[in-house]
Amino acid sequence: MSERNANPVSGQKCRLCLKSDVQGREHLPPRAATNRGPVQISFIKGFSDDRDIEIEVLDSEDGFWLRALCERCNTHILGARLDSAYADFVRQFADAVGLVDSRGRMFVNLENVYPARIIKRMYAMLLCAMPEQNPKWEDLRRFARLRDQILSGHFPDVHLYRNISDTGRIVPWCVVGELFTGRGRWAVAEVSWPPVGIVFSFQGGEPLESMEKITDWGQAKFHDREDVRLAVPQLRVEHHHPLGFGSREEVERWRERAGVVWLLADIGPHSGPTGISTLWKPS
Ligand SMILES: [Zn+2]
Repeated sequence: MSERNANPVSGQKCRLCLKSDVQGREHLPPRAATNRGPVQISFIKGFSDDRDIEIEVLDSEDGFWLRALCERCNTHILGARLDSAYADFVRQFADAVGLVDSRGRMFVNLENVYPARIIKRMYAMLLCAMPEQNPKWEDLRRFARLRDQILSGHFPDVHLYRNISDTGRIVPWCVVGELFTGRGRWAVAEVSWPPVGIVFSFQGGEPLESMEKITDWGQAKFHDREDVRLAVPQLRVEHHHPLGFGSREEVERWRERAGVVWLLADIGPHSGPTGISTLWKPS
């Protein structure tokens, strides 16, 4: 990834501590969670005067990464405390047993995993993916940063699906609504890289209901280990649209049929690859 595009946030503060300047590369998700090797990145840069989306394509030699953290948070907090627990979770998630329930959801058996460390790592990814620092996220920053902090205050739920495509997608906070169906609207953000897809949301209802909600992992203690059984929908990611699952054609049909609107958060001129939506896949 070129320095120009990978580092649009010069002078910004670390997304976790808000104290030190950002430094180094933060892989999103972590490198150890299979986000490595040559990838092609396609992100929405903005909109032209005639409302077409403008897409920029970049190549990276080593996974998808951003400059989002200071050295201390990157190395001593995420790297030392959380990354190996998260990588183990992803490894086990990838080895799902192949059994499917009546709703088409695949069972995933996790043995002896660290729920608190995994969900702290997930919220840290959400914070890194946000193009701007938001004072409202202080509860989440404390939770991700402090070892013994349990989840409390202002936070979105965490929903899991199985990403069965070869494509990752990161969408920062936005609102997706269906005008024609009465299913309402959802404030969501998404961090998805095969095999783990994560949707953060303040609302429930479909399509989130069939996903596995694991927010209560935030109540576990740092050293707690557990066996966990999940049932997760198997979904393809090919389109930039948040909550757009299936082939590109299927997502376009959903948008037309349901009258889908996608409301973007305010983004600054230097918000970079994750300002609106990013897709990437092995090249
Ligand atoms: Zn920091």
